[in-house]
Formats: sequence, structure tokens, C-alpha cells
Amino acid sequence: MTHRFQAVVVGMGPAGMAAAIELGRAGIRTALIDQASSPGGQVYRQPSAGFRVPPGLARPRHATGKRLIREIGPFGRSISLLNGALVWGAFGPGVLSVQHDGGNLDLSYEKLIVCEGAQERVIPFPGWTLPGVFSIGAMQKMTSTQGIVPQGRVLLAGSGPLLVGTGAALARAGARLAGWYEAVPFAGWASLGLAMPRWPRLITESLAYLKELFVRGVKLRFGWGLKRIYGNKCVEAATIVRLDGGGAPIAGSEKQVPVDAAGIGFGLQPSVRLARLVGCRTEYDWKRRCFTPVTDAWGQSSLPGVYLAGDGAGVGGADWSEVQGRLAGLHAAWSLNRIDCRLFDESSRKWTRARRRLEAYLVRYHNIFTPRDGHYRVTTPETVVCRCEGVCAGELVKRMRAGERDLTALKPTRLGMGPCQGRGCEGIAAELMRLEGVPGECLKPLNLRPPLVPMPLSAFGRKAKEGCPAK
Ligand SMILES: Cc1cc2nc3c(=O)[nH]c(=O)nc-3n(C[C@H](O)[C@H](O)[C@H](O)COP(=O)(O)OP(=O)(O)OC[C@H]3O[C@@H](n4cnc5c(N)ncnc54)[C@H](O)[C@@H]3O)c2cc1C
Repeated sequence: MTHRFQAVVVGMGPAGMAAAIELGRAGIRTALIDQASSPGGQVYRQPSAGFRVPPGLARPRHATGKRLIREIGPFGRSISLLNGALVWGAFGPGVLSVQHDGGNLDLSYEKLIVCEGAQERVIPFPGWTLPGVFSIGAMQKMTSTQGIVPQGRVLLAGSGPLLVGTGAALARAGARLAGWYEAVPFAGWASLGLAMPRWPRLITESLAYLKELFVRGVKLRFGWGLKRIYGNKCVEAATIVRLDGGGAPIAGSEKQVPVDAAGIGFGLQPSVRLARLVGCRTEYDWKRRCFTPVTDAWGQSSLPGVYLAGDGAGVGGADWSEVQGRLAGLHAAWSLNRIDCRLFDESSRKWTRARRRLEAYLVRYHNIFTPRDGHYRVTTPETVVCRCEGVCAGELVKRMRAGERDLTALKPTRLGMGPCQGRGCEGIAAELMRLEGVPGECLKPLNLRPPLVPMPLSAFGRKAKEGCPAK
């Protein structure tokens, strides 16, 4: 049976909640769904059930998340909340296949707003797949939603606000930080702060975290990166290296640091998997070095009736995501004729202004934190790129040098053929291809097939309980 809605919003982060609020306010019958067990998305996620998170460790922005959740409340008659619901397929126009409660259900929509968030960007180097190496976001999530702290000496390396926020959270949680290494030189960080007459929250928070790390005596290094991690069965030591202006390691500057765990990451890139599965067009973005969906100012994608909002439409942080969600929700409500032109203009003006202000800062932000070509010099031919299938950089580059110009055509190496379908390796392989001289406009993402993530076979044989989405 298909459950019919006028609008379906995927993702309960700031973008999805904001979009649903605007749809609900207009009285539109909306399903707001998320695979997570509670609303909030990445940034406002509440501490996990069954875990004790000491006070002071939970993310500082929970209050904003709670405000958005409360705002949905009055529109409960219009909005059906469905947590623990994973969208895994889209087999026809206007219908999503959703796994929920161990079974399967179809949701149909006139308007779809996809707010699937961001995923982390990792630049691989020898040793990055050893047990004890985490992505920065995973470390942060473990600490702030489950109160779990990595044991022993912890090293953090990479770039961006998530690196400094995670450092502060770990330090507060009592982790032994063996060093914090930011690839961007200090001048880059300082220019971001100094250039803004009114700092967005992300900057004020990041500067406060930096100060906290400094006060706690953590060794802070700007313009440094990780070159290699050693260990027999798990992390034992790391080589750090000074980087030049283009991000490349400076020979002779290497230092060995004994460590037991490492957090790595070069910020975020849009998660565009569901958008692509539905059929929205993505393009390689030269400035941000990642695949980004094509949208207009209201979040309308290349597919009529489908909107993309939040980090999934272009990484910009929580406040940006809320603004994008509001605008997409308002536009969808207007195009369903549930609000008139005057109300649409009045309601969207405030959010358009907010977007303009954030846009100015985001241009600088991406200029500073988008990885430089030199950062990829730590990726050696033996470095694993596709973790599911163990495909190394050398094998991929050999095929590229032999004339291969298409990521999907690299699949005979088994790139992207594992359970994650290229979620981790696609962006890395695209960058390797670009560095081999393939123009960005020629880069196309891997072909994607449902199911979006591995699912138990039993889920296909069973329908979800009747009436599930209309709780
Ligand atoms: C690991 C990680 C940690 C982060 N930590 C911080 C932080 O500490 N501070 C900070 O300011 N910013 C942080 N960010 C960035 C921040 O999450 C975003 O800027 C902001 O939350 C984006 O909001 P959003 O609504 O676009 O997406 P998100 O908040 O990411 O929400 C997207 C939601 O979509 C759901 N979803 C995705 N695909 C599907 C599907 N197929 N079916 C069902 N549901 C789906 C996800 O479960 C998720 O809840 C983090 C990002 C990541 C990836």
C-alpha cells in the first residue's frame, strides 16, 4: 500500500525541520522522515538512548535543535513524523521506498524536499585504515552523543571547524590529546575571522574552541598535516609534517609522534546519494572540489517538484541549512497554492536576507578550507582508496594514465563495488582523476543503484505495519 502525502521531507536536521515547519504552517499534509531514531540531524542530535553523556559534553547547540522541534509541535495535525525510516529506493516518479520497523512501505508525494546532510571528506595516506583511526565526525559523535572517549594518546589532524570543535569536546571529556594539527596556516584562520564585520556562529564557536584548547595546554600546530600512521595491528605512531602554501609536505620537516588513536578529516562535502537516486543532476564543483547538486535560489533541483536543502545542497553549516530549508518549504507551499504571493514574499524576505549574509562568509570559508592539490601528495600508490574492496591509489592512477576518463569505468578494479557503493571512495577517486588532468566538467559520479545502503533480505518480503506514517 502507498501512503499518500502532499509533501515528503527527508532528513530531520535543521534543513528538514525548517522545511517541514513552513509546509505544516501552510496546512500541507507532510511526512517528515529520518533514518535516525530521534530528530536533530547531525548537529542537533540528542544524546543516544542508553548512554550517559556527562554535562558539558553534549553539543552546545541542543537548545536551537529543541526550539525547532518545539516549533513543529503546533503543526502536528499536518506533519507526520517518522523516525527510524530509511529511504532506500525510488523506482518511479513521485514515490519513495522506505524501510521502517523491519518492513517496507511506499510514500508518494507531490513535492519532495531532500535534506540528507553532509558527509566527511578524508584524504587517504598510508595507515589510514588501521584500527584506531577515526574520522573526526565519528570521534565527535561518539563523545557528544554517547560519552565514549578514545583511550591513550589521541592525535587530531585535518582541517576546518569540525577539527577544532572535536578537539575541544575530546579535551573536555578527558582525552589525552597528543597534538592538534590544522593543515591551513594560522593566517588563513585569522583572515576568516578578521574579514567578517559580524561573525557567524560557526566562527565565534570555533574561536572559542581554539582558545579552550590553548588554555588546556594542547599542542596546536597550523600548517601541519599527517603523512603516515604506523602500527602492527592498530595505531602505534604517526609521522606529522609541515605543509607548504599549496598543502604539499615539506621534505625534511617530518616528526614522529607516539599515538594510540587518530582523528582525521578535511571537513565536509554534500551528501547527494538520495538526490542522485531520485534523478537530480549533480555537477563537479571546481571551487569546492566535490560533486554538488544543481539547484536554484529556492532549492529547486533539475527535477520538477524535487527540492534540495541544507548541507546536501552545498555545505554551509546549521544556520545556513535552516535558512535553505525555510526557503524550500515556503516555495513548495507557494507552488502547491497553499500560500499566496504576498505571504510568500513577506515570509521569504527575512530568510533571503539571512542567506545573503551567510553567503558572503561561505565564499571565504570554502576558499580557506577546501583542500589544496598538494594535500593529496600524502596519498602513495600503495594507499588504500576503496576500503570495502581494498583498491589502492596506484591501481586507479595506472588506469587513468592509460586513458580511463570515467569513474564508473574504473569499477573493474572493484572501486565502489562494496557495500557502501562508493560513499567513501568516490570523492577521493574523482580528485585523483582531476589531479591526473581530467577537467572537472568531465567528472561524473559513479552510477548508483538501489538499495542505497545494505539491507537485510527479510525487509523486502514484509510490509511495514499499516498506518505507520500517520502517527
Ligand atoms: C559527522 C558530522 C558531525 C558534525 N558535527 C557538527 C558539529 O559538531 N557542529 C556543527 O556546527 N556542525 C556539525 N556538522 C555539520 C552539521 O551537521 C551541518 O551543517 C548541519 O547539521 C546540516 O544540516 P542538514 O539539515 O542539512 O543535515 P543533517 O543535520 O546532517 O541531517 C540530515 C539527516 O538526513 C538523514 N538522512 C540522510 N539520508 C537519509 C535517507 N536515505 N533516509 C532517511 N534519512 C536520511 C540523516 O539521518 C540526518 O539525520 C557535522 C556534520 C557531520 C557529517
